[in-house]
This record gives sequence, C-alpha cells and structure tokens, in this order.
Amino acid sequence: MHDESGGGDPSHRAFDPGRFGWAGVDTRVYKAGEGPWRDVTRQVLFQPQGDLPVEWRYFEVAPDGWSTLERHEHQHAVMILRGEGRALVDGDVRTLGTLDLVRIPPMTWHQFRAGPAAPLGFLCLVAADRDRPQLPSDEDLAELRRDSAIADFIRP
Ligand code: MN
Repeated sequence: MHDESGGGDPSHRAFDPGRFGWAGVDTRVYKAGEGPWRDVTRQVLFQPQGDLPVEWRYFEVAPDGWSTLERHEHQHAVMILRGEGRALVDGDVRTLGTLDLVRIPPMTWHQFRAGPAAPLGFLCLVAADRDRPQLPSDEDLAELRRDSAIADFIRP
C-alpha cells in the first residue's frame, strides 16, 4: 500500500518467535546499573505518524526483573502479551496474566515485575507528545511504604 505520509514504519513486519521480536525492530537492552530497573528490554513497534500520534512499544522484563517505579502525566494502555507477573497499578499490587489489560492513569506510581519462572512481556501504548517520567523522592517512597503490600512489592 502506498504511504501517503512519505516515510515511517513498513506496512508489515514479520514476527520471529525465536527471539520474540519483529523484523527490523531493534531490541534495546536496559543494562543493569544504568537505572532503577532490572533486566528490561524495549522494542518500538510503531512510531508516531500522521493521524496516529502515538508510540507502541513492547517491553519484556526477564524473570525476577522489574521496570522503573515511576509516574507521569501521560497514560499507558498496556496488554500483557507474554508470561505473567505483577504490577503496582493505581495504588494496588495486581497479579497479571497473558492478555490482561492494564491502564495506568495520570500521575499514579507504577512498576511491573516478572515472577521467577517466566518473563513478563507487554505492549504499551503512549502518546507521542508526553512528559518525562518522575522518579520517587524519599518522601514519596515513605508514603508508598505505608501500605505493606506496596512496601513488599516495590524495587529496588
Ligand atoms: Mn510509565
């Protein structure tokens, strides 16, 4: 199909189950020690283009890994695509299974963790024009830890 906007993503990318990735999409590794996450990879599946001013990403958290504990004004629409795990979502720790849907509301702390036996892979939709994530201050962490379930869950 002709691309009227003159660029952007190809019209088809084949999925490669061997590396759980898509043709021509780089898998970016978030290396341990560079930030407040552990064993997370990211693939950008769709870039913002034309009347779709959104970015669609696939994140994978390896067994026992976790994503950054953060909040921001922009929302996430998430579908669990692979595996299982748990997440801090809107004040609760939820158990997540394959194909579950998760919405992260504005300015709510969130973090995804894989269990010990399987990775947690999820699709995450965000607006192209979005604010930068905020990390918790010591005061924010103290407030979060008032809830014992959240205190046990959050990492590092
Ligand atoms: Mn986020």
